[in-house]
Amino acid sequence: MKAAVWHGRQDVRIEDAPDPPPPPSGQVQVEVAWCGICGTDLHEYIGGPVYIPQDAPHPLTKVKAPVIIGHEMSGRVTAMGPDVEGFSVGDRVAACPIIGCRHCRWCKSGSMAQCDKVAFLGTSWWGGALSERLNLYAYQCFHLTDSISDEAGALVEPFSAAVRAVAQARIGSEDNVAVVGAGPMGLMTLQAAILRGAKQVVSVEVAQRRKQTAKELGASEVIDPLQEEPEKRALDLTDGEGFDVVIECVGQPTTAHLAGRLTRTRGRLVVMGVFEKPAPMDLTDLVFREKTVSGSMSGFGMYDDTIRLMADARFKGEKLITARIPLAELVERGYHGLLYNKEDNVKTLVSPY
Ligand SMILES: [Zn+2]
Ligand SMILES: [Zn+2]
Repeated sequence: MKAAVWHGRQDVRIEDAPDPPPPPSGQVQVEVAWCGICGTDLHEYIGGPVYIPQDAPHPLTKVKAPVIIGHEMSGRVTAMGPDVEGFSVGDRVAACPIIGCRHCRWCKSGSMAQCDKVAFLGTSWWGGALSERLNLYAYQCFHLTDSISDEAGALVEPFSAAVRAVAQARIGSEDNVAVVGAGPMGLMTLQAAILRGAKQVVSVEVAQRRKQTAKELGASEVIDPLQEEPEKRALDLTDGEGFDVVIECVGQPTTAHLAGRLTRTRGRLVVMGVFEKPAPMDLTDLVFREKTVSGSMSGFGMYDDTIRLMADARFKGEKLITARIPLAELVERGYHGLLYNKEDNVKTLVSPY
């Protein structure tokens, strides 16, 4: 079968890979329909390895580069191993990339993403979603309802991370929410906050095209920190209080600092951006105003909720799909398009054929 294989930094090849074996106990085989390109894929391509085990095998799965990449997938079940319940051949599914040890405190308490040995589809698993077929544990697979297309199904994984961040923030109908950043994750988080019924959701962004998309997806206002004083504008929009909830979706030192400042007294800041190095925050402000800060990592545990929210007629996630390409064009049109033409590309979907 055809697959995209990561061999090293800036060395991703489309090549023939062996078909997966018949699924072992607890696993299903899935034929991939679509796979989205994620920011972490770009990090692995341009500056990796970040999570891909290159020198030593992964402690849980024993996988080591070269690996088949890709994790934001939809597809169809084509075979079931022994001891699999709840799936039949032909079922349409989305997949959760998290694979835990299933024995530690975190795996046993519903926080598999925090497992010390966690493995991840597309970096440390025997198969990736940028291929024709792969085996997955049945617990990683979630049924897609008829109203969710195969294309939208490839958005379940990134959208679940947004749904989790919004759940960490405990957003309710009285909350003024700011989402810092209107890249793919920021735009999904904006949608999740709106679907969760926040009072108003404001986007904080500087790029023209992204500001426009945030508006189209339902942001009530957009704050551009390069054109106005963001803290003053935040107070204007919230009766002088600041935002009840701020969600940071960028991962830069300046945006982390700003996100903290935009949060009201005793408000909640959730950080989901991926940072390349430690970032400063105004800790005196956090202390005096008793702000709560939490992180949010992946969408583990949120897939059923996510699929329910995506079936809502107000879900406009498909607007985020800006390109659909065949596997052969992954590097040139896919990676390079997202890396060097950020303004025009939000979410690129790849077909294995
Ligand atoms: Zn992803
Ligand atoms: Zn574990």
